[in-house]
Amino acid sequence: EIKKERSVVQMGSDPLATVGGKKIGIIAGPCSVENKTQLLEIAHAVKEHGAVGLRGGAFKPRTNPYSFQGMGEKGLELLALARQETGLAVVTEVMAVDQVELVVKYADVLQVGARNMQNFNLLNAVGDQRKPVLLKRGLSATLEEFLLAAEYIMSRGNHQVMLCERGIRTYEEYVRNTLALAAVPALQRASHLPVVVDPSQGTGKNYLVDSMCRASVAAGADGLIIEVHNDPEHALTDGAQSITPEQFASMMKAIKRIAAAV
Ligand code: PEP
Repeated sequence: EIKKERSVVQMGSDPLATVGGKKIGIIAGPCSVENKTQLLEIAHAVKEHGAVGLRGGAFKPRTNPYSFQGMGEKGLELLALARQETGLAVVTEVMAVDQVELVVKYADVLQVGARNMQNFNLLNAVGDQRKPVLLKRGLSATLEEFLLAAEYIMSRGNHQVMLCERGIRTYEEYVRNTLALAAVPALQRASHLPVVVDPSQGTGKNYLVDSMCRASVAAGADGLIIEVHNDPEHALTDGAQSITPEQFASMMKAIKRIAAAV
C-alpha cells in the first residue's frame, strides 16, 4: 500500500515546477555544465519539450582526479543565466559542506550525489538550508540506509527532500549500474517523499534510457532526472549515457501517454 499523504516538492518559483504532485516532474540537462552555448542550447530544448528543472553539474564527483572536475562557480553562474532565460529550476550537485553557502546562492535544488549519501555532515548542512534537496541513493545503500539519510536532512527541519533511485552496484557489468525500479513503489510505501528515477546513471547507456524512463513512469515514479546533451559524442562527461534533445522530445511524448494511463 502506497502512503496516501504524499509530499509535493516545489522547485524554484514556477508553480508548475513540482515533483510529487499529479504531474510527473521532469528534470533534464547535461551531466556537466561545459560552456554557455552548450548549456543554453540544451536548456531551451528541454524546456520546450516539457522539463521543469534543469540539471547540470558544476562540481563533479569524478572517479579519476585527472578527469574534468566541473566549472565550479563559473558553471553555477551559467546555470543561473539559463534559469533567467528559460524559467527552469536549477538542480545542481553540492559535494562538500564548505560548498553549501556558494551553491545555495545559485541553485533551486541542492543535489546530494550517490557518493555522498552517507556524508552525514553534508546531510546536516543541506538540512539546515531551506531549499529542496535531491538525495541520490548510495552506490550500495539499502533502502533503509537511504531513508535514514533523508531523515538526517529532515531532522534539521528541511522537509523538502526528493529520493532518487540511480542504480546500485551489482555483479552485472553490462550496465554501469543496476537500476532497481522496485525501489519506486517500495520507497513510496515506506515514505511520503517523492521518488525520482535517474535512468542515465541507472544504465550508463543512452539506448536504454528511453525504455527505463517509460518503465519508471509506469512504476509510478514522481519524477525523472535525465542527462541530455546536444553533442553526446563530444560531451566532457557521461556522453555514453546522454540522449539528444530529439530523443528527449520523443521520450516525453511516450511518457505523457503512459502517465495518463497510470
Ligand atoms: C550526477 O547526477 O551528475 C551524478 C554524479 O550522479 P550520481 O551521484 O547518481 O552518480
